[in-house]
Amino acid sequence: MAPAGPDARRERNRERLMAALREAGAASRAELARRTGLSRTTVASLVAELQRAEVLTERQDGAGASARGGRPPRLLSFSRSAGVAIGIDFGKRHLRVAAADLSHAILAEAERPARAEDPAEAGLEATVALVEEVIAGAGVGSSEVVGVGMGLPGPIDRRSGRVGSSSILPGWVGVRAAEELGARLGLPVSVDNDANLGALAELHWGAAAGRRNVAYLKVSTGIGAGLIVDGRLFHGTGGMAGEIGHTIVDDQGPVCRCGKRGCLETLAGASALVDLLEPRLGRTISTAELLDLAASGDSGARRVIADAGTHVGGALATLCDLLNPELIVVGGDLSAAGDVLIDPMRERVHRNAIPATARDVEIVAGVLGARAELLGALALVLAPPAR
Ligand SMILES: [Zn+2]
Repeated sequence: MAPAGPDARRERNRERLMAALREAGAASRAELARRTGLSRTTVASLVAELQRAEVLTERQDGAGASARGGRPPRLLSFSRSAGVAIGIDFGKRHLRVAAADLSHAILAEAERPARAEDPAEAGLEATVALVEEVIAGAGVGSSEVVGVGMGLPGPIDRRSGRVGSSSILPGWVGVRAAEELGARLGLPVSVDNDANLGALAELHWGAAAGRRNVAYLKVSTGIGAGLIVDGRLFHGTGGMAGEIGHTIVDDQGPVCRCGKRGCLETLAGASALVDLLEPRLGRTISTAELLDLAASGDSGARRVIADAGTHVGGALATLCDLLNPELIVVGGDLSAAGDVLIDPMRERVHRNAIPATARDVEIVAGVLGARAELLGALALVLAPPAR
């Protein structure tokens, strides 16, 4: 049983206020009262206590003054000494790490090439080295790190914590990534898949800010979705919710890395598009070159990207009928193709979804680009989703 009495209640209220401020980054006292449901008097008294302890600092909101006129609100945020969060984005070809303070300011950031096909041991070692470099670059000690968030391009089983089998990281399948990295760093680590982190980042700081029912779609080598239902990240029973890349489009189609045939990913993932184009070009190309060709008006490149949009749109139509989202945010490497990819998606959703659910949904490109997963990894620490 939780301890009772005024001290315990004040402690719980302090925790609530600090969690709300961690999520917001900076907020006025009135905003904190609204976010926590605590009275203004309680908020004022807790804030005074935390300011005396030098946990919080206060500054004038310059932007608020010019926008609304009158006296600008005073914004509270955590002081640097309150701690630092680390975010890690482990991708198919890259490893990115960032350190942010609890007011959400990025203190240091670094990126290295990575190889998804390497065993987990090598990946973990490279991650530890880059985390240590970023902590040093931020000018803090590892004792000041309050938590580490990490994104991996594969499903994470919520019950066992193990990386699932349809991962782009073959050497990581079955590995308890959070536990393994936590033991090496000596820090608390949370792990989630890249699409879920993209969803969290766009929800907190991007195209989905203030929205309640959102699907974030990552279209890269793999295709996955992060689902926000009633304002919260939805994981499903085992953490597999949103694995939209493995819905079957053609059951006689190419064999997928998951072992099935004709998954959406085998027809609309970046590798599939590159494979379609290479015979005509007579050379191998990267996803970046595919996007450059499309941007320069190459009709073959534009056609394969548009067809991918149509395939993805078919799966999104079903998703719209099931979840009735208000917004779909398209991220991942291929989202850089913009409307070449997204217009055919919109068209197919309008053709295949129930007219009412199609009318409710807006489909837009993400605004955070290649940093969405990294920022989502920071959000795992700064605004942890309910377990
Ligand atoms: Zn598959």
